[in-house]
Amino acid sequence: MLKENLNLVEQRIQNVCRDKKIPRDSITLVAVSKTKPVTMLQEIYDAGCRDFGENKVQELVDKYEVLPKDIRWHMIGHLQRNKVKYIIGKVALIHSVDSLRLAETIEKESAKKNVTTDILIEVNMAREESKFGVFPEDIDNLLYEISQFSHVHVKGLMTVAPFVDNPRKNSEIFEKMHKLSVDIESKNIDNITMSILSMGMTNDYEVALEEGANMIRVGTAIFGERNYH
Ligand SMILES: *Cc1c(COP(=O)(O)O)cnc(C)c1O
Repeated sequence: MLKENLNLVEQRIQNVCRDKKIPRDSITLVAVSKTKPVTMLQEIYDAGCRDFGENKVQELVDKYEVLPKDIRWHMIGHLQRNKVKYIIGKVALIHSVDSLRLAETIEKESAKKNVTTDILIEVNMAREESKFGVFPEDIDNLLYEISQFSHVHVKGLMTVAPFVDNPRKNSEIFEKMHKLSVDIESKNIDNITMSILSMGMTNDYEVALEEGANMIRVGTAIFGERNYH
């Protein structure tokens, strides 16, 4: 049953790729598995998915321990500095870096383990008070500081767009994100590339892809609704 959900998402990704003439293999689908049991992750793994997104350190580590080691784990939630040490060497990509202090901690913990950690900068493009992320006008300073670090590599940008009834309403936010990433790329900052643009969730991933996303984070459409308690 989950495999059918995945197939449906895959079909819709391929439709956008065909319409927009985007190669399918340039896009990464991250299956957002937060709150879901490992049996469900295993099912999606068996269907071919290797990228999973979690938003809690403990949950990511617990799942990491028991699931196959070729999974690429994505930390997509707000990250506290005192928990960074638990995921270094385990995560493929941290999507949610929004301060120099957090980047410093990732640098320090990565140096200790002698690894480099790939990160994205989370941008609060819609300027929502309830959201994490840096404002676009603050990103240059942050990038120049992080570019000094040798164990942290910035690979691109991430945003969580507002929840809207009609996903088209987010197309302007996505377009601005794409433009920001192109602008930054053209500055050729040491250590920093803009190869990843992580945006689009269950409600708006097609619009995000149309506006230039190459990494989408889809939970509900694959695993079903989440129960929080
Ligand atoms: C939960 C979450 C998602 C997935 O949301 P869905 O609407 O279930 O697809 C994507 N990104 C982040 C940062 C999340 O926290």
